Amino acid sequence: MRKETTRMNRRQMLKLTAAAGAGVVLMGSEAKANTPKANSKEAISKKEPLRIAIIGGGMAGTALAYRLSRAITYPLITLYEPQERSCWYQPGLTMVGTGLWPMADLAYDREDYIPEHVTLKKEPVGAIDARTHTVTEADGKEVQYDYIIVATGLQLDYYAIEGLGGNFTSLERMETPEAWMDDEAIGSVYHLHGSFRLSVQLDALVEKAQKASNTQKLQVFFTQPTIRTKSPAAAKSVLLTLTQRLEEAGLRERVGITLVAEDGKLSQNDAYDKRYRTLMKKKGVRIVKDRLSAVDAKNKKATFKSAGALPYDFLHITPPMRAAAFLESAGLLDDAGFVDVDKGTLEHKKYPKLFAIGDVAGCNTLKSASAISEQVKIITDTIRAIDEGEKPKAHYDGYGSDTLLCPEKSAALIEAWDYKGNPLSPMISLDPMQCHGLYWYTVRYLAKSYMMQGVLRGWA
Ligand SMILES: Cc1cc2nc3c(=O)[nH]c(=O)nc-3n(C[C@H](O)[C@H](O)[C@H](O)COP(=O)(O)OP(=O)(O)OC[C@H]3O[C@@H](n4cnc5c(N)ncnc54)[C@H](O)[C@@H]3O)c2cc1C
Repeated sequence: MRKETTRMNRRQMLKLTAAAGAGVVLMGSEAKANTPKANSKEAISKKEPLRIAIIGGGMAGTALAYRLSRAITYPLITLYEPQERSCWYQPGLTMVGTGLWPMADLAYDREDYIPEHVTLKKEPVGAIDARTHTVTEADGKEVQYDYIIVATGLQLDYYAIEGLGGNFTSLERMETPEAWMDDEAIGSVYHLHGSFRLSVQLDALVEKAQKASNTQKLQVFFTQPTIRTKSPAAAKSVLLTLTQRLEEAGLRERVGITLVAEDGKLSQNDAYDKRYRTLMKKKGVRIVKDRLSAVDAKNKKATFKSAGALPYDFLHITPPMRAAAFLESAGLLDDAGFVDVDKGTLEHKKYPKLFAIGDVAGCNTLKSASAISEQVKIITDTIRAIDEGEKPKAHYDGYGSDTLLCPEKSAALIEAWDYKGNPLSPMISLDPMQCHGLYWYTVRYLAKSYMMQGVLRGWA
């Protein structure tokens, strides 16, 4: 049950302020002129600001900062984010990795996107005490907030695979890549450096296939940990791009492609899982349930839990993705390793007024930017309602969507569903299980503006 707040809610405060204002008005015109409007920010500011900490300034944290700063009468928002730059439009990594977009501007200066009246603290949060709503800052200082929102995204945990290394977000390690990140036979679309190199790596593979014999096939593996990662379709888009390039060069027969999925799933959603299987079968892709445990880059051998060590010519890795360690120490995570929130309100199941949003939130939905566009509205409405003494009504329906590129048709399939699990079409009348040219056009030319100007800035 939601904990009752003992402090006066701000709707009551508004009334009081209004009453006080009215009293002053009666005292004379001079006083009237100096009295702030009853419901103006100026009036409220003299009473009680609402202290909100948002931890993490990715798509989720930044969009929420924008939206809250408009919806709450007097918000005092602190956004904690250590990175100078951000890769807010991560769906663009797929476009760069498949050679459709140049790298140009996927990384933005954070300062250009911070809403007014929001304080940016360029530091990581080290700890949270969920009972006292206290955040420990980088220098050890403890700061108490009325609301805490966890928006720290997921760490790409390449360390979990022996022989690789690195635990970083999608943007980091551009300047200081791990050695394996520059290996020509290892690719990964999930981080900026990997995405940047990928299309050239695919071309190199096609060239290699040209020189290979028909009898000894090249071996390519696409590996995937348990399906609850962000954008599981991104790796499949790369896979289909590769098959397309090989087909165009008449070389498809020279390359064996295996998709290795740890839990054997191609989607969390059964209908899409089936759809992807049909698509992969058509493309001659073998699907195997197994787990990548180690990579010997020097000898080009990948070790799988069941199949053992296998030689590879190219390996595309979807890394395990995890919440930041300090969230576990704070006792905030569920069994799957995400913040343990109520699916409908996104408020923590144990700790009131502590929310999670975006990839780190433990709701069983598609970890995607489109999910964030819905989640920001829910959290904003809930906080505004509590603050004004109303019963929160907003309820997240679990909507999320992901993009699968179907390159040979210049089409895309938008995987979209909600908690009910029904496939949904973002565009009415289009079959949600099919690749459409209209989606292709949208993801290629329109979606970025919508996300950057609409969702990120808290309008859409
Ligand atoms: C290749 C790829 C393709 C995608 N395709 C699609 C698609 O087609 N459609 C779609 O809707 N979505 C897609 N997505 C998913 C979407 O981009 C993500 O779900 C979304 O960007 C996640 O945002 P976030 O804010 O939750 O996390 P992030 O963007 O990871 O941001 C988290 C932030 O928290 C900060 N942080 C971490 N720890 C701390 C700390 N201790 N203190 C303070 N700050 C901290 C990090 O520095 C980071 O900036 C794709 C993603 C990828 C990688």
